[in-house]
Amino acid sequence: MFRRQFLTAGLAAPLAYAAGSFVPAWAQNAPNLGTPTLPTPGFRRMKVGDVEIVSLIDGVARRPLGEEFVKNAPLAEVRALLTSQGLPTEYIDIPFTPFLVIAGGRRILMDTGLGEFGGPTTGKMLEHLRAAGVQPAEIDTILITHYHGDHIGGLRNKAGEFVFAKAKVMVPAPEHAFWMDDAKMAAAPEGMKGAFANVRRVFAQMPAETLVRFEPGSEVAPGIRSVAAYGHTPGHTLFEVASAGQTFSYVGDLTNVPALFARNPDWAVTFDMDAEAARQVRRATFARIVASNATIGGYHFPFPAFGRAVAQGNGYAFQPVA
Ligand SMILES: [Zn+2]
Repeated sequence: MFRRQFLTAGLAAPLAYAAGSFVPAWAQNAPNLGTPTLPTPGFRRMKVGDVEIVSLIDGVARRPLGEEFVKNAPLAEVRALLTSQGLPTEYIDIPFTPFLVIAGGRRILMDTGLGEFGGPTTGKMLEHLRAAGVQPAEIDTILITHYHGDHIGGLRNKAGEFVFAKAKVMVPAPEHAFWMDDAKMAAAPEGMKGAFANVRRVFAQMPAETLVRFEPGSEVAPGIRSVAAYGHTPGHTLFEVASAGQTFSYVGDLTNVPALFARNPDWAVTFDMDAEAARQVRRATFARIVASNATIGGYHFPFPAFGRAVAQGNGYAFQPVA
């Protein structure tokens, strides 16, 4: 049952990008379902040991909830779980939340948001970064979990300029190798070609001294360790920030919205490229984080996107800090 098929036909629809642009169709608000509201202010600070972590929401996309969203559970069960948590069942609100690490003189950004390439309720990360008192040129390092457009879109603007002029961009080597492989792009289903093209938009012509490939498992900055978590994408990688005996685990897309995929770690969101590998690493990582009592943060977690994970039922509940 353990399959490694990263280019299956099932990926075509969910990863589809609007023709002629790099806007992921799923990051646009669905018509007639209303508009999600964004938190004000759009950032939240937290201390982890001597380090400050700032969550910076880029936006929220409202997506109609259909059969395809959870690949391996009946829609009725998905709706029942949402209802039990007081959540709507007609749509899913998917937030996008990069994190900033302020450690000594360092300003390290983890993932970037959609930049200028998403719908009208996204692309706010820079505004929130400035509101938190940090300018884009002060970012010295950017850590990327994986190459989906909502995580890398903000690296470069529509004019082609690199938005974080002085930052080194640190990327998981296996993730870079997969998406930059022209043979894999040629073999990909039509609906995935936009994602490959977007990777080329962002990384082609990136100066060699800017792009740093690292092997997952290595330390990427003092006190920040990368952790391989392959499955969502071939090189999907987490980051753990440790300081003075405390740990913050930024889990990227280990789950999509935790109301569904932390509560049921065996459920597969439509964006997981290797669902079985993603399921195994999701279970193992949650178990490890709960045992170590680390603070958890997730890219698609509800604002402020960091808090605690606690065991509940067949999985875990995410409790955002108050
Ligand atoms: Zn994502």
